[in-house]
Amino acid sequence: MAKHLPRKAEVVVVGGGVVGLSIAGFLAEGGREVVLLDAGGPAGSTANAGSLHVQMQSRFLRMYPEQVPALESGLHLYPKAVDFWHDLERKLNADFGMKMTGGLMVAETEDQLDFLRRKAARERALGLDSEILERSDLDRVAPYIGPAVIGAELCANEGKLNPLQANAAIRGWAQSCGVAIHDGVHVAALSPQGSGFIVETGGGKVHADQVVIAAAYGSRTLLEPFGYELAIEAEPLHVNITERAAPFIGHLVQHAERPITLKQFASGHVVIGGGWPANLGSERGFPTVELASIIGNATLAQHIVPTVSNLHIIRTWAGVNTPTDGKGILGPVEGVPGLFAAIPGDAGYTLGPLCASLVAECVLGKKPAEDIGPYSPARFRTPAAARPKADAHLSAL
Ligand SMILES: Cc1cc2nc3c(=O)[nH]c(=O)nc-3n(C[C@H](O)[C@H](O)[C@H](O)COP(=O)(O)OP(=O)(O)OC[C@H]3O[C@@H](n4cnc5c(N)ncnc54)[C@H](O)[C@@H]3O)c2cc1C
Repeated sequence: MAKHLPRKAEVVVVGGGVVGLSIAGFLAEGGREVVLLDAGGPAGSTANAGSLHVQMQSRFLRMYPEQVPALESGLHLYPKAVDFWHDLERKLNADFGMKMTGGLMVAETEDQLDFLRRKAARERALGLDSEILERSDLDRVAPYIGPAVIGAELCANEGKLNPLQANAAIRGWAQSCGVAIHDGVHVAALSPQGSGFIVETGGGKVHADQVVIAAAYGSRTLLEPFGYELAIEAEPLHVNITERAAPFIGHLVQHAERPITLKQFASGHVVIGGGWPANLGSERGFPTVELASIIGNATLAQHIVPTVSNLHIIRTWAGVNTPTDGKGILGPVEGVPGLFAAIPGDAGYTLGPLCASLVAECVLGKKPAEDIGPYSPARFRTPAAARPKADAHLSAL
């Protein structure tokens, strides 16, 4: 808690979602003394639906067609990110509830199937393992898909995990590596001091040699004073979950045109997400669910997988996602030595641990395993960018 905050740390990580926790763990393994500060606000990592995405989501293609080149430029990271989750599960000797059964994106019309044919061809050219299934193929590999569906794209590398299990295991691992995690600490501002930083919080100041901003939607205000205007937003989204059932849905299921992700966890619960809106109007900044999303999301689910209509929804929740301009914002903050950004971008839970490892390598002064140049925060640097003065009061509130 704030009253126990240390006065100094080698590295402060701001944000305790999957990215912040993973970075903190990697840095501690690399020999750094790490303090992680998390405000306890809404986190995508504790609200997400557990889909391991690889193929491009139609939701993004429809909503932000201008982002397709950026999405495609980072597409090669997604299968690597899924492999990274496997490696992490093994390394931590943990059970994330992972299942790699492939992902289906279904079509109900010839137009939608044509769209998927073009998308699959494009994705294959970019190295993904994607193929088109006709209805007769679906009857064989996914008989639970309803009669309205005429075909689908199957992406072999997709799957699912249980974020509750994964988050707990990653947090435990980070702590066992020596990371000091302080929950409920909001970082109000960062200001440079000497070759390091003063991290200002409600519970006092922490002096840090290096700072990693892994605060999702909260990153924008922290970077603004350094002359960066990140194109990120807080997007409130909805999820439904049903009671347990015997296994009947194998794949991660999405739709070519309509917002849905559908999967069954190893526990038997069916999780239904996919981008239905929630409400971010609440005073405390926590999102609330909308009745229209509960109903719309569940109705679409039973249209695609009719057996879902036999199940009760036992819980719904809302969370805050952090969309970017189509790709992650990763690596050193140009012009501010010692400051790093780690915002994974689209399907950020899938990308989280891989992105975290790439940024951690930068912090440790190593060459990252992937070229993260294209994801540099530098693309958001304003022309008048300047390092704030040490005595300036930089309130990010
Ligand atoms: C409903 C929903 C479903 C989703 N489903 C999927 C999915 O199925 N698959 C997938 O790949 N992705 C999914 N996502 C996206 C994914 O969850 C996020 O992209 C990912 O978890 C982001 O991780 P993160 O660590 O960067 O940020 P977060 O998990 O959002 O964590 C950021 C943390 O920073 C803290 N913070 C913010 N500002 C400050 C500050 N100033 N000081 C201190 N702390 C601060 C916040 O309190 C929060 O705890 C979903 C998102 C939502 C909301």
